[in-house]
Amino acid sequence: MSHSPANRPTSINAHRQEGLVAIDWADGHHTQYEAEALRLLCPCAFCRGEAGRPGWLDTNPTLTSIQTQLVDMKLVGGYAVAPVWADGHDTGYYEFESLRANCPCPECTAARPSSINVAAKESE
Ligand SMILES: [Zn+2]
Ligand SMILES: [Zn+2]
Repeated sequence: MSHSPANRPTSINAHRQEGLVAIDWADGHHTQYEAEALRLLCPCAFCRGEAGRPGWLDTNPTLTSIQTQLVDMKLVGGYAVAPVWADGHDTGYYEFESLRANCPCPECTAARPSSINVAAKESE
């Protein structure tokens, strides 16, 4: 776990109406996730799979409006947040570090290797 300011949020706001999650970081960076993008990043075992088995999100499901509707956001142990979705799904603990690492802003996207490259590296 890194304690660098880049991975330390100073505020996390879930805008339920707009379907947005806004995060301010200690280094001054600002991250904004659309709810659907956040749902697609769900790191839980059900969505991501475990023990080599594919998860639900690996089946490229079409997400319903219920599944991408944010109803709440819980802080988990000071290192992660757990969004609560309208379909009742709340087992995804999004660590701050990974929320920052996946920041969808143009600046961070440009600085990141493409996901294709990442996948290729992992399968080596
Ligand atoms: Zn999940
Ligand atoms: Zn960013």
